[in-house]
Formats: sequence, C-alpha cells, structure tokens
Amino acid sequence: MSNFKYDLLKGKMTKIADVQFAAAVLEWDQETYMPEKGAIIRGQQLSTLASIAHDMKTEGELYELVRELSQSLELNKEALKNVCLIKEDIEKEQRLPKEFVTQLSLATSQSFHAWQKAKEKRDFNLFAPFLSEMVELKRREATYLGYEKHPYNALLHEFEPGATVDFLDNLFENVKQKLIPILAQIKAKKVEKENFFKQDYPKESLWNLSNYFLILMGYDFEAGRQDYSAHPFTTSFGSNDVRVTTRYTKGEFADLLLSTIHEGGHALYEQGLLAENYGLPAGSATSLGIHESQSRLWENNIGRSLAFWEGVLPKVKEIFPNTFDDKGAIDFFEAVNEVKPSLIRTQADELTYHFHILIRYEIEKQLINNEIEVNDLPRIWNEKYKDYLGVDVPSDDLGVLQDVHWAHGGFGYFPTYSLGSFYAAQFFATAQKELSGLDNQIKETNFISLKKWLNDNIHQFGRLLSGDEICVKLTGESLNIDYFMQYIKEKHGV
Ligand code: ZN
Repeated sequence: MSNFKYDLLKGKMTKIADVQFAAAVLEWDQETYMPEKGAIIRGQQLSTLASIAHDMKTEGELYELVRELSQSLELNKEALKNVCLIKEDIEKEQRLPKEFVTQLSLATSQSFHAWQKAKEKRDFNLFAPFLSEMVELKRREATYLGYEKHPYNALLHEFEPGATVDFLDNLFENVKQKLIPILAQIKAKKVEKENFFKQDYPKESLWNLSNYFLILMGYDFEAGRQDYSAHPFTTSFGSNDVRVTTRYTKGEFADLLLSTIHEGGHALYEQGLLAENYGLPAGSATSLGIHESQSRLWENNIGRSLAFWEGVLPKVKEIFPNTFDDKGAIDFFEAVNEVKPSLIRTQADELTYHFHILIRYEIEKQLINNEIEVNDLPRIWNEKYKDYLGVDVPSDDLGVLQDVHWAHGGFGYFPTYSLGSFYAAQFFATAQKELSGLDNQIKETNFISLKKWLNDNIHQFGRLLSGDEICVKLTGESLNIDYFMQYIKEKHGV
C-alpha cells in the first residue's frame, strides 16, 4: 500500500520539478541569449510558472499523501527521509501566501533587469528603488517563514540549513583573527613583480582552454554545455542537463579560466546527483555551502595548485603559441596565487576573498534587520572597502553593483561562499589522505579518482545527508577553519 502511495508521491514531485526546471531554462536563457526587449514578458512568464509550482506544492491532496506516508512503517529509510524533507518543504511553502510568491518572482525579474542597467550606467540610483522593494519583500518573507532571534536566520536557512547569525558572527570573528596576521606575513614576504596575467589574451584561446579544463575535470558535455554570461553561474534542469557559463574580462588571463573551473565544480555536483532521484530531495544538492565546497575545491585546491599548472602547461603552450615560451608552471602558480586586496569579489585571491564576504554579510544582515537603508549602501559599501581592504571604490559598478545576488533576492547567500572554501580545504585534506598519489595524478591531469571520490562521498546523497552530516562522515569532525588556515600557510610558505 505504502509503496504504491510513495510512487504516487514521486509522480507528483516529478511534475513539480518539471515546472521548476522549465522555469530554470527560461532563467538560463534570460542571462545568456534573451534579447533586451524580452525582459518584461519573460518576467511575467517566470512569475506564472512560480505561481503554478506554488499551487502544485500546496494543494491539499499532496500534503495529505505526505502526512500519511510520514507515519508509514513500510517505507525504507531513504524513502522516509525523502518524505520527511518534502513535508518540511511543503510546510514552509504553505507559510508563503500565493500573492506574495507571485509578487516576489515578478520583482526578482524586474530588479535583475534594473541591476543590469544600473551596472552598465554605473549608477546605483537606477537600482535603488527595486532593491528597496526586494529588501522589503525579503523582510516579509522572513516574517512568514518564522525565525528565532534574527530575521536573517530565516533567509540563511534557505541556503544553509543550520547556519545562524550567532554561528556566523563567531565564525567570521575567528576568520578575521586568524587571517589578518597571515596576510601581514605574506605581505612582508612579497616581492613586487609584474603579473603577466594582467594583459589581453585572445578570447577564443581562453575559451578553448576553458573547455579543455572542463573535459579534464570529467564534466559531461553530453549532459551540459558552456556559454557566456555577465555573471558566471551553473544551472541544472536535471542531472542530465547541467549548464555552466563563464565570462571574458579584457586584460585578465585567469578570470575566465577560474570561473570555468569554479562552475565546473558546481556542475560535477549536479551531474553527480542520481537521475533516478529526479524531483526528490535525494536528487537535489544539500546546501549552498556544500555546493560551494565543490566549486572551491576545484578552483582553489586544484586550479590554484602547482601540480595542476605542471600538468596543463603543455596544453596552455599549445593553445597560446609563442606566448609563454619563457614561463614555467611555477610562474603560473605564482600569478594565480597573487595576494592583493582588490575591488571585485570574483577576482579576489583566496585570502582577501573572505573580507569581501564579511562586508556583504555585515551589510545584508543589517539591511534585513532594518538597521540601515538601501539609499546609504554605496557610502557604507565604500567605507567598508576602505576599512577592511584599504581600497578606494571609483564607481558603483566596481562597488555595490558588482554582484547580482541582491537583485535576485539572494540575501543569506554570500556567507555560503566562505563556508564553501573552508569545507573545501577540509574535504581536500581528507582526499589527500585517502587517495594515495593524488598529487601525482593531478600532475598527470588525471582527475578520475578524485571525481569519483567526490561522487561517492558527497554528490550521490543529495539532501539525504545535511552539510554537517557529510562533513562529519567524511572528515570525522564538523566544519573546522583550521584546515583552511593550514592550507593557506603551506601554500604561501608562512
Ligand atoms: Zn560558486
């Protein structure tokens, strides 16, 4: 009886996923190929799909089915876990009024469009009214969802279940205490020399090299593709269609390549989810922190390692003939690891990166809690950049407008980037222990065993294990930032 009902539930969840992934295709198109005039009608289409998905998730029959199944004694452990997670998801969805869901979706498309324009024109004022509306909607969302202590906790939960303001305040304080002296040591050791990455390189060659990297990583091009977008991202329409984007920045060698490796890491996670779990919690990623651990592991622990550049150097020289004749792997390694406070988060080095996150975390926490106003953001932003990173922000496009997240309503998202880096260092330290000869494999551009290790230990579980459960199962302890600090110290010899 229960198995029949469980199949019924799976059928319903599949249909909901169909609608959501159809919306994801439209969103992918919106950020890659859609012509500018398509924006308004696209916003309407996405809003309609969001409201259809909301109706499907909140219809009474589905909830009854889930409630009944959650008390069933016949389901196996995995099925029961799926049922419990679906039940939680529905109960959360039920707290959001339908008109709110439609309004939020519409506002998201509009504010994304306004953000693009404002960034292009370097004028925060063009975005401010849309952002104000978005902040207001997010405050309302937090109220609907419910929270303890701080409204930001409700939003955090969407991206990183279990994370709270208390936990993050503590974590970032700890990060600050440890990173500041390490940064000072690296600065003291640094010999100023020109970074050969900061020149124009042919866009097409960078593109070709980035595709080569994706193939090396084990990204399945028969289940995905790469395109350009303003802000690199990964999106999935099911584990057999997982797409990545990258971007070309003039005067930058590494930006496009590292973006590709980063998104490739996300994509391996999505491609590594089991297709048979389509639409179920077991078929989706467990948290953004763990998602980000996958992108960071590939970007930083692999893509910024000496072994990696030793391995790929012949191909780099082949794709860029007569360009790097006097350069060895060590030169690439040093250039890709240059530590230098800068304006743009996505181009920051691995260390100062976390100050970019800290700044955003402090701002969005206060915004959601009504402690600061949207109109003051450029000033607050610029002051914090001076304070934490010692840099002057020349214009809003290089400052408060640089990231798309707030336009999308992604408040609570940024901290997961830092969590991801810390998880990545901890996971990679474990991989080095468990996979003998990993360093040599990297030098030989052989990533098969590493990819399989990630598939087996992280990807395949989907949401059946929480981020913390994965971490404890894999490394024997909860998140511990000392792995990251150790890794950074070793890399920079301090
Ligand atoms: Zn990422």
